[in-house]
Amino acid sequence: MTHLISILCERKTYQVLAFIVLPLLLWAGEAPASGTARDVAVASMTAITELRLPEWRWHAADASVLHPEAIAFDDAQWQSFKVGDEWNTGPVWFRRWMQIPESNAGYGLRGALLRFRVRISGENPVHLTIFFNGAKAEEGNDLDPIMLTRSATPGERVLIAIKATVPGGRTSLQQGQLEVEAPAGRPDPRTWLQEFLSAEAMIRAHPDEGREQHLQQAVAALDWDRLKSGDQAGFDRSLTAARERMRPLAPWLKSFNIHATGNSHIDMAWLWPWTETVEVVRNTFTTALQLIREFPDFTFTASSAQAYAWMEEKYPKLFEEIQQRVREGRWEPIGGMWVEPDLNMPDGESLVRQLLAGTRYFRDKFGVEIRTGWNPDSFGYNWQLPQIYKRSGFNYFVTQKIYWNDTTKFPHKLFWWEAPNGSRLLTYFPHDYGNPIDAVRMAQDLAQYSVAMGSSEWRSDTQHAGKCRALESRQRGLSAAVAGRGAGIF
Ligand SMILES: [Zn+2]
Repeated sequence: MTHLISILCERKTYQVLAFIVLPLLLWAGEAPASGTARDVAVASMTAITELRLPEWRWHAADASVLHPEAIAFDDAQWQSFKVGDEWNTGPVWFRRWMQIPESNAGYGLRGALLRFRVRISGENPVHLTIFFNGAKAEEGNDLDPIMLTRSATPGERVLIAIKATVPGGRTSLQQGQLEVEAPAGRPDPRTWLQEFLSAEAMIRAHPDEGREQHLQQAVAALDWDRLKSGDQAGFDRSLTAARERMRPLAPWLKSFNIHATGNSHIDMAWLWPWTETVEVVRNTFTTALQLIREFPDFTFTASSAQAYAWMEEKYPKLFEEIQQRVREGRWEPIGGMWVEPDLNMPDGESLVRQLLAGTRYFRDKFGVEIRTGWNPDSFGYNWQLPQIYKRSGFNYFVTQKIYWNDTTKFPHKLFWWEAPNGSRLLTYFPHDYGNPIDAVRMAQDLAQYSVAMGSSEWRSDTQHAGKCRALESRQRGLSAAVAGRGAGIF
């Protein structure tokens, strides 16, 4: 499931929609420790919290390999495969042994919590099954890091096996590593890094000498020589001090709120029969309803009247529960079109009818008026869309795909999009349509967004305040606060 977050800023002055992203390694690939003190701190902290596993053994998942996840399996004849390599021959196995070292870039691993992060993706969805020492640990698409051990024992050997089930197409091993977390009771380097990078993103967006100084002091407090000389306790003390240097930033940072709403991007038909999409929708909506039952703060949003119509026709009980959740304000139908169509090629009449049929359905079945256009996966947009949306009662539009262009970079994140006839939609581009809960990424998003709104005037500008109130009322409290998910200073 992917997510949608909306960010609600200072004193609820305004609000924005923002996607959170595929497991992204924000600070991967940092240069080795050289350069400014800040760069050294970030690179060194990254190095001690990530144990890269670049080399793997690789084989097609065919009849010639039986249970290669087993410890006794002999992979001597398998090809070697590196992180970054790609293939296009369909399902495969990856396998490798690793011995937990005494330390990682000087940081002692005894007792540390280790999670395995793997990212394999390509032209088609990839289903992963992960095995540790022959036992299945996890399976699914776009997996979060998987717990390998809560208390590492240096010298221990672990066999990691991965089955990547994919129908074909270009696919690559993008990431394979262990993530290191400090044992309970000790300061955690990853937490420090996330807090530092989150605060830095916000301070860069809202420059202030005093706040900048707190960051510099936090960097200066870190004692890397202790780590080099093997004095783990001394380094831990400096890490605790470095966190304390950032504490004065907490009240300012806490004046911003980030709200998140779940969303799952489901193509109605793409490389599979539509009947399969019905099951994908059922599974996804069932999961969303379960999460709503389980977590009082959880909210969900979904587009495409057709997806709802399938549930109404084939799974009426599930549909009724969605109706109930919409009444409660915990599920928000969005988009207002029958499906999420291409927005380049269809003629105007077709798009008008998407909106006519879609909004009519949502009004009849859920009693809601849709005001936000939602089409994150269109490759382009005809220039009359604001006119078509506006005349259909819409005020807002969310999309993102032209951000994917690697040559012509789209410069705006939040802007008024105007049609030739002068109709305007407040338009927002989140990062992507599949995003994890990632503190740094979300802080960067908030930083960009708050600048787009005009950082110097947001408190006093009544026009902005008006905009915000409009956005806020549209959301009707649908967002679930994610503040407090990470137990950090911020
Ligand atoms: Zn799509």
